[in-house]
Amino acid sequence: CGIVGYIGIDQAAPILLDGLEKLEYRGYDSAGIAVYNGTGIQMVKATGRLKVLYNLTQGGASLPGTAGIGHTRWATHGEPTDVNAHPHFNKDSSIAVVHNGIIENYMKLKKKLEAHGYEFLSQTDTEVIVQMLDYYYDGNPLETITKVMHRMEGSYALGIMFQDHPGEIYAVRKDSPLIVGQGTGGNFIASDVPAILKYTREVYYIENEEIVRLTDSSLTFYNIDEEELEKAPVMIEWDM
Ligand code: GLU
Repeated sequence: CGIVGYIGIDQAAPILLDGLEKLEYRGYDSAGIAVYNGTGIQMVKATGRLKVLYNLTQGGASLPGTAGIGHTRWATHGEPTDVNAHPHFNKDSSIAVVHNGIIENYMKLKKKLEAHGYEFLSQTDTEVIVQMLDYYYDGNPLETITKVMHRMEGSYALGIMFQDHPGEIYAVRKDSPLIVGQGTGGNFIASDVPAILKYTREVYYIENEEIVRLTDSSLTFYNIDEEELEKAPVMIEWDM
């Protein structure tokens, strides 16, 4: 029930683990992180407390890299198992997705994809998102994401990584919370402000059906028609 993401000059995994810990109050049954390591996207995920994930990754040290996404899951579709935990990948692990919310029409989308030869590994509604991204992907992340948004019904906050666009993270939301933070050494996504308050106070609130492209030094906002948006940051004055 929490999402974090980081892209910048520092190691991503420790920041992701720390951010997820700040979101623990939202509740969860499993957790996972994915980090781009220079050649591919590496992932570790497991049921249970964040401590399990922390130990499995040696505090994040086993997942080196400066761009990543993390997730704590509150299972809605599919049991709380390691396989059903997020992130979810497409077949060749070139696209990674974390998701909060519920894809109401996932059954219909899943059947369509299966008719195209797609095999599903998990019982989650979330997996249709990454398989659908794979189906439509033609090298243009933004265009592919909007195509998938047009076909999904329900609620979603998403963090998305494409292996062939390693300097970017994408964030999207509809009816599930998601914010973006702009720091000096990198940029962040999170379900809620406390996850990133240690790193930055400059926050952008993402509206329904908005898409953000994050790089280590830039944020670009789009609507579902792929038109660029001007957005102003909010300075968070309060402390934890
Ligand atoms: N519906 C998704 C699942 O069950 C996401 C749940 C969540 O928001 O954590 O995997």
